[in-house]
Amino acid sequence: MYDNIFDEIFVTFSRELERRGIALPSVSEIAGEDNDPYRILVSTILSLRTKDKVTIERSKALFEKAKNVYELYAMDSTELAETIKPSAFYKRKAENLKEIAKIIIEKYDGKIPSTMEDLLSLPGVGMKTASLTLNLGFNELAICVDCHVHQILNRIGIISTKNPDESEKELRKILPKKYWIPLNEVLVSYGQGICKSVSPLCSECPYEKKCKKIGVDKHR
Ligand code: SF4
Repeated sequence: MYDNIFDEIFVTFSRELERRGIALPSVSEIAGEDNDPYRILVSTILSLRTKDKVTIERSKALFEKAKNVYELYAMDSTELAETIKPSAFYKRKAENLKEIAKIIIEKYDGKIPSTMEDLLSLPGVGMKTASLTLNLGFNELAICVDCHVHQILNRIGIISTKNPDESEKELRKILPKKYWIPLNEVLVSYGQGICKSVSPLCSECPYEKKCKKIGVDKHR
């Protein structure tokens, strides 16, 4: 019925999310409103270790005050930190955002860079942020592997890797290109709602019979 295991996982998980009415991750929701790479980059930084609800609220509040990197750079540092609070590590994120805005203005003529290398050179920007910015902001192919993608695919047994970076390298070899962009959205939502980091809802998961559930017991 399915050409490969990723077809089956993608369809099964997407249907289950739809059935449960589970929303897309926050950055996707923001990207849906406006695919502006500036907004994707900034809201992804705010989303790190932060609940979706907070990310959406604080991103919108920030974008009302700073619509582009020039306005972001001009913002008072204390006001910037207070605006993104209670995003996790908001003081550090505020410092990074100011520095990122400065670099983009000075080095990239105010435009968000569109290569992995350039994005990764910005302070506080890791693989997840860079990949999501390329995916959603520039429609460039990149695999965004965060903790949910890494954990779920290891639990299922498709990959056997130690961290998201290793997973990203492995997925580059085996993941069909059509899933490079949408896989993250589905697995992040699935990880938040069903295949949770602690106490995954295996008995309610439509993929339960096929999943190897590697390492799941220790999370119960
Ligand atoms: S069966 Fe359990 S571990 Fe496997 S994908 Fe479903 S929720 Fe996750």
